[in-house]
Amino acid sequence: MTRVAFIGLGRMGHGMAGRYLDAGFTVTVWNRSKAKAEDLIARGALWATSPEDAAIDAEAVVTMVADDEASRAVWLGKDGAAATMKAETLAIECSTVSYRHALDLSRELCGRGLIYIDCPVTGLPDAAASGNLTLLVGADPADLEKAQPFLAPLGTTIRHFGGVGTGTVYKLINNLMGAIQIAGVAEGLAIAEQAGLDMKLVLEAIEGGVAASPQVIRHSRRMVARNFEGATFTASLRRKDAVYAVALAEDLLAEAPLLGRAAVEAYERASAAAPDDDEGKMIEIVSRPRPSAD
Ligand code: NAP
Repeated sequence: MTRVAFIGLGRMGHGMAGRYLDAGFTVTVWNRSKAKAEDLIARGALWATSPEDAAIDAEAVVTMVADDEASRAVWLGKDGAAATMKAETLAIECSTVSYRHALDLSRELCGRGLIYIDCPVTGLPDAAASGNLTLLVGADPADLEKAQPFLAPLGTTIRHFGGVGTGTVYKLINNLMGAIQIAGVAEGLAIAEQAGLDMKLVLEAIEGGVAASPQVIRHSRRMVARNFEGATFTASLRRKDAVYAVALAEDLLAEAPLLGRAAVEAYERASAAAPDDDEGKMIEIVSRPRPSAD
C-alpha cells in the first residue's frame, strides 16, 4: 500500500488526512495536540510521536499547518520530518505560507535530496473532507507528475502555475483580494445598518448586483445575521495571509499596496478581538455607531 505521512490535523488537515484513508493509503499522522487524531486513528491511521517519526518510510509527507513558523517547525525543527525522509521522497507543503518561506523551505529540502511541491489550496474544510479542494501548484512538471497519486485524493482541480513558489503567489493574491472584499463588505453593511436600511432588501440587492462574488454573498448573509457559527476561516489566519501577501507586494511593486495594507489593519483589529472566531465577525467592530455629539 502507498504510504503517506500527514502532519497537521486542524480544520483542513483533518479532512485531508481522512481522504488518504478513504483512498486506501497507509496513513501515518502527527498533530501537535493528539486529541484531533483520535477518530482518524480509530479509522486506521497510525499515530506517530513526532513529524520525524511520521516520515520514516513515507513515500510522501504532506503538511497542513498554520503558518511559516509551524511549517518550519514540522519540516526542519527538532524532530522535524526532514530528518528521516529518504532521498527522492515527496515533500508536499499545503499550508498557506509566505513566498519567501516557500522558496527557503524548497531550497533546504531539495538540498537534502527531497522533491518539493508547493501546493497551497483553496476550498473550505468541507471541501477538504470531501476531496474537492483546488490545488494551487508550483513545481517542476516532472515532480508534479510524481506527486499526482498523492494529490488526487485531495482535489479534483489542479492549477499548475509554474515552478516552486508560483502556487503560493497565486494563493496569496487570492486571499489578499478576499481580505479586501470581506473587509469592504463589513464596512458597506455597517453603513447600511446605521443608515437604517432594510437589511433583507440590502442582501437581495447585493446578491443580484454587480459587486457580488460567491465570497461576498456568503459573508454578507453571515454578517447581516450575525451568524458566525462553525468558523471555517479565522481572523488570525486571514490576517496572516494578508501580511504575507503585502510583504510580497512590497518586494515586487513600486507603489505601496494601499488596499492590502488597509486589509492588514482591518484584520489586525479583528484578530486582536477574536483571533479564533470567523473572519466575518469583524463587522461587530466596524458597525459600532458613532457616539452622538451631545
Ligand atoms: P487550524 O484549524 O487552526 O489548524 C492549524 C494546524 O496547525 C493545527 O494542526 C495546529 O496544531 C498546527 N500548528 C499551529 N502551530 C503549530 C506549530 N508551531 N507547530 C506545529 N503545529 C502547529 O487551521 P486550518 O484552517 O486547518 O488551516 C491550516 C492551513 O490551511 C493554514 O495555512 C490556512 O491558511 C490554510 N487554509 C485554510 C482554509 C480554511 O478554510 N480553514 C482554506 C484554505 C487554506 P494544533 O491542533 O495542535 O493546534
